[in-house]
Amino acid sequence: MQGGHPAAAGFTQEADLRWQDHAACTRHGPDTWYPEHGEVQTTTQKAKRICKYECPVRLACLAYALRTREGHGIWGGMTEKERRNAFRGSVDVSVLAGVS
Ligand code: SF4
Repeated sequence: MQGGHPAAAGFTQEADLRWQDHAACTRHGPDTWYPEHGEVQTTTQKAKRICKYECPVRLACLAYALRTREGHGIWGGMTEKERRNAFRGSVDVSVLAGVS
């Protein structure tokens, strides 16, 4: 998945990615989480709603994306730009993730 990204070093496929078995996004097309030009805003909002209201593993997903510094797509209800901003300290992750 991460191809040996240094930030993902603490994860093992068996132990730490089991949350993916319960991911709501597996019931939808992958394009929703990787929006292309044209319908980015609409598609992004759709993905965020699914993450927030349908997915039982959202926090595990977000934690994984933040820890591995996943650079593409929507993970845990956050876009790549929102995750980058979170690392810069300009965004409260708990607010974006809807857990505060
Ligand atoms: S939070 Fe969103 S991107 Fe993450 S597993 Fe759930 S549906 Fe998929």
